[in-house]
Parts: sequence; C-alpha cells; structure tokens
Amino acid sequence: MQDSLRERWDGVRERISAACAKAGRAESEVLLLAVTKVFPATVIEEAYALGMREFGENYVQEFESKRPLLSELPGARFHLIGHLQSNKAKKAGELFDVVQTVDGPKLARRLDELGKPMDVMVEVKLADEEAKHGCDPAELSAVVEAIRRSANLRLTGLMTIPPWDEDAEKSRPYFARLRELAAAQGLQGLSMGMSNDLEVAIQEGSTIVRVGTALFGRRQKA
Ligand SMILES: *Cc1c(COP(=O)(O)O)cnc(C)c1O
Repeated sequence: MQDSLRERWDGVRERISAACAKAGRAESEVLLLAVTKVFPATVIEEAYALGMREFGENYVQEFESKRPLLSELPGARFHLIGHLQSNKAKKAGELFDVVQTVDGPKLARRLDELGKPMDVMVEVKLADEEAKHGCDPAELSAVVEAIRRSANLRLTGLMTIPPWDEDAEKSRPYFARLRELAAAQGLQGLSMGMSNDLEVAIQEGSTIVRVGTALFGRRQKA
C-alpha cells in the first residue's frame, strides 16, 4: 500500500530534523517548501489541511488555472520557483507571494512596477547547462543592486538548481558556491536542496528546501 501524504510528510520532516542535528543547526532555520507542480489543486488543499503552508509552483499558467479552484487558505504562501519571463511578471505578481527566480534587473523592475510588496530571491546559474535559467554569478551584484534599489521588493536570498544527479554529493559544490555568493552579498536566505539532496543542502546552509517527489510521489510527465 502507498504511504499517505501524512506519512511522507513525517518522513521528510524527519530527514530535515536529522540533517539539522548532524549539521548542528536549529530545525527552525530550514523551511520546507512543498512543490506541487503538476499536481491538482486538491493536493494543495490536502497538504494545507495537514498543516503545510509554504507551496512552490513552477509555471505561472498552471498555477493561474489551479488558483481559482483553491478555497481560501489563510496563511498559505505561494512561491514561484520556475523561470519567469518578463512578459508574465504582472500575472506572477498577482498569483505569488514570493518569486524565487528573479534572474535579471529587467525582471526585477517589472515586478517592482506592480507596486505590490513582494519577497524575492535571485536564481543563480552555477552550471553551464543549456536548459537552466538563472543569472550568471558575474552579474549577481547588478541584479542584487537593482532589487535593493526597488521600492517594493525585499531581497531574501539566493536560489539555485544543480544539475540532476542520483548522487546527492555531486550537488555539494554548487550548494557551497551559492552560500559563498550569498555571504558576499550579505544575504541569509539559501533556497537549495530537493527530494534527493536536501541533507547535503542543509549541511551546506540551506534555509529553504524545495521538496516535491518525496512528499507527493512521482510526477507524471506533462
Ligand atoms: C520540481 C522542482 C523541485 C522539486 O523536486 P523534487 O525532486 O521532486 O523534490 C524543486 N525545485 C524546483 C525548481 C523544481 O522545479
């Protein structure tokens, strides 16, 4: 029989707890972001009913269609963790509380112009894979400055997605690099680590782990 969402949630929280203990960190320093992309709105409601409050979605359009199906979920916060094109900034601003994937000054300006106070993170591209988005580390200072100059955006930290590898240790150098880049900018927040490598991420200082598969099971290919 399949584990229930409650059991999988407990399992993920135990992993976070063990990783924090091993790293000598307080559990309260690490936020569990439940990544619900591809899953229906009912799954978000089920997770909310259990007590989850922070949700990650990848696609503006997908969440736009799910949002009206959700009842009022007081205290829930929705993070955009997928690439955001500037021309969708307005829609994203309406739908999301946090945009973790700001990757350039232009997108920062677009979000700022919406006039809505919003938490943002800068996505940094640390591997040169064609498919990955994010700002080049060399351009990070410019993006950080643009956000800091903005009236409505609050910069909370950096986010990255290492190349997928079954071996979680392969992610470590990317996580360590993100931590160094954040420290150099005086930033605390580090969104890094997913189902497969959250322990390594927590050892390297993660403050937000983004977990999909370990909570909701494997996603069907869209
Ligand atoms: C899908 C996704 C996740 C969750 O990945 P899992 O391996 O299913 O935990 C985390 N972050 C981003 C940016 C994603 O796109």
